Amino acid sequence: MKYALVTGGSRGLGKAVALRLSRMGLPIVINYRSNQASAEEVKAEIEAAGGIAELLPFDVASPQAVEEAVEKWTAEHPDDYIDVLINNAGIRMDNLMIFMQNEQWHNVVDTTLNGFFYLTRRLLKDMLTHRHGRIINMASLSGIKGLPGQVNYSAAKAALIGATKALAQEVAPRKVTVNAVAPGFIASDMTKDLNEGELKKLVPMNRFGKPDEVAALVAFLASDDAAYITGEVVSINGGLYT
Ligand code: NAP
Repeated sequence: MKYALVTGGSRGLGKAVALRLSRMGLPIVINYRSNQASAEEVKAEIEAAGGIAELLPFDVASPQAVEEAVEKWTAEHPDDYIDVLINNAGIRMDNLMIFMQNEQWHNVVDTTLNGFFYLTRRLLKDMLTHRHGRIINMASLSGIKGLPGQVNYSAAKAALIGATKALAQEVAPRKVTVNAVAPGFIASDMTKDLNEGELKKLVPMNRFGKPDEVAALVAFLASDDAAYITGEVVSINGGLYT
């Protein structure tokens, strides 16, 4: 069976993506770091709708944890492979550059950029062997425009966009597509501490986006209809361009 793995699938955008890909008929592997209760809820919601879901907790920023988790999953699924990989796990640790601590820099880069590297490298072989695959990386408007207070996050997301474009060219001959999605402000735990009332005035649509709206875009990029789209960065931001 072909599975979809969603990193950070326990909450927010990743949860919406997991539910949506399940509705497309894909069995789902839900990754998360620590919030087991939320991940169990996503699994239950998928199963209640008739889908297949399993949990695979690991820290994407740890190369050992990634190796161990994929090894375990592969041993339990000798006839299956991950055909759709959504690199969604991400964190914010905002600070002005002048005050930014090494830890704030490294944690954000390790999760977004190094997490992409460790996991994608590990799963790529199966996609290349099967001559089919979809890799979708959750970037951000911040990685295109750059946002003050987010030098770490903007750098990590911009690097993820560069990696998306480079990898897309490496694997295109094997029918593996690699794309990035760049959301603007989307309502989730990550943005709940922001002043939505003020920030939405910057958005021509005058509102934050919904996780389901991002999930619909991801689902399209994962579908057969998107077979000829690769190396792209698709913005989804209510008109909040740079
Ligand atoms: P969120 O609500 O804070 O959820 C983050 C998810 O990532 C959780 O499932 C969390 O797992 C998981 N996670 C964090 N660090 C991890 C790690 N080291 N290993 C494995 N899983 C990890 O965030 P969100 O708003 O849904 O954001 C999802 C993605 O979209 C992120 O990459 C973010 O940068 C990007 N994005 C969001 C927005 C926005 O406005 N919300 C805009 C642009 C881009 P636990 O539940 O276990 O903590």
